[in-house]
Amino acid sequence: MTLLMIPGPIETSPAVQAAAACAPPSHVSPQVLEAFGRSLELMRHVWLASQDSQPFILAGSGTLAMDMAVQNLLEPGDSAVVVNTGYFSDRITTMLKQRGVEVISVKAPSIGDVPSLEQIAQALEQTHAKALIATHVDTSTGVRVDAQAIARLARQAEVLSIFDGVCATAGERFEMEAWGADVYLTASQKAIGLAPGLALLVASPRALSARAALKQAPMMSIDFDQWRPIMEAYEARKPSYFATPATPMIMSLKVGLDEILADELGGLSGMQARFARHEAVASRARERWRSLGLELVPKREELAANTLSALYYPQGHDAALVGRIKDQGVVVAGGLHPEIKARYFRVGHMGYSATQEDHIQRTLDAIEAALK
Ligand SMILES: *Cc1c(COP(=O)(O)O)cnc(C)c1O
Repeated sequence: MTLLMIPGPIETSPAVQAAAACAPPSHVSPQVLEAFGRSLELMRHVWLASQDSQPFILAGSGTLAMDMAVQNLLEPGDSAVVVNTGYFSDRITTMLKQRGVEVISVKAPSIGDVPSLEQIAQALEQTHAKALIATHVDTSTGVRVDAQAIARLARQAEVLSIFDGVCATAGERFEMEAWGADVYLTASQKAIGLAPGLALLVASPRALSARAALKQAPMMSIDFDQWRPIMEAYEARKPSYFATPATPMIMSLKVGLDEILADELGGLSGMQARFARHEAVASRARERWRSLGLELVPKREELAANTLSALYYPQGHDAALVGRIKDQGVVVAGGLHPEIKARYFRVGHMGYSATQEDHIQRTLDAIEAALK
């Protein structure tokens, strides 16, 4: 069987697959009320979010969750500072501009790097931004920002913070409550470990107040204020309806989140085990990259994500390498960042696969064999 080791969709556990493989249940059936309600509760644990934060589960993609964050926190005439580390930072910049928000972009000096905290602090000082926005892990470069430090800068400047965690949430350390972040969003097909189809977002009380204070409401289908009573009803295990949820996906979400929180590793449990596991898998992968002479797109090892590796093709290789790795039974991804697209490839090592020794071993061996 071919292994899918791209930065999403990823391999999923047999229990997660089985939970979604059902005749679609009604959105008000007892099993959906329970799975939906429980998933909302579990999201606070996976996000390490406060009890008074509000999780949202919508049918949709990560891109939808990004739009939801942008439109609920910001409106025309506002401004926002964007920490730009690649493709998905560019995407949220476009969304902000479409919403009529002025964007102050703080760019990394080069691809594979991050802007300094001083540059970000300076941008916040010199503008009247309402929000600071960053991509936790940019999937196009494999670069991870220091989300804790960025969230701290936002608190110090008293601006809202939004983190796109689509390639990070449940794989990279993120402590929403302790760090004081306002929105952390993802999608089901990345480190959460489900099929594609759900947009997942947790909003802080400050983020909910920001929505309440808007003069120009977001698009109705992604409005916090439309969805909040629905999420509250589900959490109380009460039937309600605004727009039909993806019911088989909800069944699998509860199973997937349970699996994440049941993780154990070397005396650690729950999210601590999960973060440590991704760190261990990534450092093992990087050891192999070094031994194979592969160069990371991230400029320094501490910038390299634990959920995926972005690697330059070595001398004498090009995009055909991806096909040769596939011949070895492992699917990896080509480049995504437009400026270096043809020069590198990407390997996902997150979620369920990070718990499966043979997935990691087969992937590292397939890449080694394809290079020879
Ligand atoms: C995958 C990804 C997205 C987009 O998610 P979709 O589900 O494809 O819309 C956004 N941001 C990051 C960081 C991602 O990795």
